[in-house]
Amino acid sequence: MAVKEGVIKYTIQHTPAAPMAATELSELNAWRKILVLLKLIGQDPARYAGYGFGNISRRVAPWDAAPEERHFVITGTQTGDIADLQPEDFTVVVASQSQKNTIVSEGPAYPSSESLTHGIIYDMDDSVRWVMHAHSPEIWRHAQALGIPVTDATVAYGSPEMANEVVRLFAETDVASQHIFAMGGHEDGIVTFGQTAEEAGSVMLFALANAMARN
Ligand SMILES: [Zn+2]
Repeated sequence: MAVKEGVIKYTIQHTPAAPMAATELSELNAWRKILVLLKLIGQDPARYAGYGFGNISRRVAPWDAAPEERHFVITGTQTGDIADLQPEDFTVVVASQSQKNTIVSEGPAYPSSESLTHGIIYDMDDSVRWVMHAHSPEIWRHAQALGIPVTDATVAYGSPEMANEVVRLFAETDVASQHIFAMGGHEDGIVTFGQTAEEAGSVMLFALANAMARN
């Protein structure tokens, strides 16, 4: 069933590098803060054995990069307990090879443990610029009732199998137009994405409202 958040399972080739400019991260930080305030990203001793949960990323240049080489900036691993992130808490993934279970990153922090899942979404649709991964008991519990695509419950987060499940959802469901799916084998795991932060964020908030209306 649910696998502990925060345990890095992939091979990571990380090169320390200078942080991005704060101005380039301000929109990421603003949306992350909204998700933190809603307890969709965070760290809580009573949830997931105390591991930090949730993360957010956006594509960065070069915009013509091939799949598996699309760069994105993502929150560093185990930053869930930090209310306001600094540029030192983000890092840039420069290659995400799901079948090799390998992440290549450059920046001041190690990348989030779910970078492979973010990477495969950017691979599936070149127009996607933002990915948000939250933990919502409400959305997760009502995912099927709300018509939200769900990954196989036997597949753990951050694995090649999870990447394969995302590929399957794009082939077999309307996830490309819904911009949201639930991670069946990752307790409370929800992913939204879009061409803008507004799109990815509003899909998350709309799903939360619909789920809460069913409680
Ligand atoms: Zn998660």
